[in-house]
Amino acid sequence: MSWKDKVRKVDPYVPGEQPKMTNMIKLNTNENPYPPSPLVEDQLRIMDAGQMRLYPDAEATELNAAIAAVCQVDIDQVFSGVGSDDVIDQIFLTFFTGGGKLYFPDITYSFYRVWAQLYRIDYEEIPLAEDWHIRSEDYIKGDSAQKAGIIFANPNAPTGLYENLSEVESIIAGNPDCVVVVDEAYIDYGGESAVSLINKYDNLIVVRTFSKSRAMAGMRIGFAMGNRELIKCLKDVKYSINSYTMNTTAIKLGVASRRDDEYFRKMTDRVIKTRERSKQQLTELGFEFPDSCANFIFAKHKKVAGKELFEYLRSQNIFVRRFEGDRIKDHLRITIGTDEQMDKVFDALRVYLW
Ligand code: PMP
Repeated sequence: MSWKDKVRKVDPYVPGEQPKMTNMIKLNTNENPYPPSPLVEDQLRIMDAGQMRLYPDAEATELNAAIAAVCQVDIDQVFSGVGSDDVIDQIFLTFFTGGGKLYFPDITYSFYRVWAQLYRIDYEEIPLAEDWHIRSEDYIKGDSAQKAGIIFANPNAPTGLYENLSEVESIIAGNPDCVVVVDEAYIDYGGESAVSLINKYDNLIVVRTFSKSRAMAGMRIGFAMGNRELIKCLKDVKYSINSYTMNTTAIKLGVASRRDDEYFRKMTDRVIKTRERSKQQLTELGFEFPDSCANFIFAKHKKVAGKELFEYLRSQNIFVRRFEGDRIKDHLRITIGTDEQMDKVFDALRVYLW
């Protein structure tokens, strides 16, 4: 047997393009169009290069404390990592080990499938309903002791649809014997967080990120919240493999961002306002879309194919995201930019479609 037969194989995840050109409108990876809090910039200015001599605080204590204070949980209910991708990776490694299948929606963040393949976890993709919602009853069927786990995003990506907390709770309550992960990357743009349930259910982990509403995708900060026992399991695994993943700068800048909730709310509201305006514009242009609660809209034109529109926009230096797959190949996932950027997108679409 050659080494080629022993390789860990996956269908590689294809991330959104990161074009290098200037003078483009980049609406393809759900980044925030606004900068992070001015407190982050202040902190960056006083960072001391001499500090780099030292290893970072492996537990990111200061950051976890700042997160705990804002989210009203205890510090030992928080686990931080290098973006929520890193945190979810740790979760897969730590919790989805038993027999049975891991369940997640067929249309969701495609990394879940990649991780399942990578860790050789048997999985089942549960189809979303006709209206693109997650059907909670599909996740409650069967004995949870026989399941490897459950993961879903709320609001879901790329649909942008939010499931009510009562639906989310029914999935958690209906699966007491496996870990249920709620990926809340976009929760600040609409909906109620499941973090209020972490003291009620010992099988719930809520994952969040600084990449979207906190405008810090480049700093790579994500975190999980859950009961102490779950969080300790995550830390035990992490510190046994690679303790110092979060760097000192990220920890300090994350703390600075958490100190400025007023700015954060203001900018989040701005994105929400632009999203609602964009929904009207897209409707006028002949698009249909699920009613997004996130910082993107998943839109399909009634007459023109997704690929054609995607390529046209690209030719205008406007980058949006498109996925393959029967039900979604004609959809474009358009990140909400500034009002000015969105107006340019709609102007370009008007020229092409009218
Ligand atoms: N979860 C979902 C649903 C996402 O869309 C993303 C962003 N691609 C992530 C997690 C990962 O975000 P990050 O690693 O930047 O925190």
